[in-house]
Amino acid sequence: ARKTDENDIVVIGLGRFGSHLAGSLARLDHEVLAIDRSPERVQRWSAELDRVVQADATEEGALRQLGVAEFQRAVVAIGASVEASVLTVLALTELGVPQIWARATSEKHAKILASVGAHHVIFPEAETGERVAHLIISKMLDFIEFDDQFAIAKVRVPGTMVGRSLRDMPPAERCGVMVVGAKLPGEPFRYATPDTVLRPDSVLIVEGSITQVQRFASLG
Ligand code: ADP
Repeated sequence: ARKTDENDIVVIGLGRFGSHLAGSLARLDHEVLAIDRSPERVQRWSAELDRVVQADATEEGALRQLGVAEFQRAVVAIGASVEASVLTVLALTELGVPQIWARATSEKHAKILASVGAHHVIFPEAETGERVAHLIISKMLDFIEFDDQFAIAKVRVPGTMVGRSLRDMPPAERCGVMVVGAKLPGEPFRYATPDTVLRPDSVLIVEGSITQVQRFASLG
């Protein structure tokens, strides 16, 4: 067996979420050990992922045999079965995995996961639902909101600003947002300077409070 590297990550549960997560980690050049109890799922993903094994992850002994105790990070991507997800986190805690990420499908589920030792709890459905809601109702092209109401968004150049430089635009006209950078089609991203001229086909990265960013995006 190959030696476990500190960048290697265990992904448990190859459903819709876990399989995309494992694929993304692999594309980001991390070795992934993927575990699922369903032989069909294992079969389905073994062509695309380097190491896919069939095991019941609620069994601490099975995880130990697979060398999971050697890993620095594990993600429990099981969603539908709260019981399987909680017992798997418990098994990982017992093995002493230092960074356990776990997917929750409700606030109560999240509380239980934290109480059995998950270090990071994620809500993929809730987060995606919220993000997509913002994208649908606003003109933002993309959007990330951080804890403290702070947001970064990808937006088009408002019509009134086309052809002008950032120097000529007082903060109030920019709804208080900070323009971080701009990108023209086919050109690399460039950080904004006071001399940056906003072109009609530029895509901007702006940051500010969520309200400011939304207002800026709706200038149209
Ligand atoms: P999604 O919503 O992402 O499709 P699901 O909860 O439907 O997620 O899928 C979870 C995956 O986790 C399934 O492939 C299932 O076989 C797997 N799984 C469920 N319980 C266990 C377990 N005890 N050990 C390993 N894999 C499990």
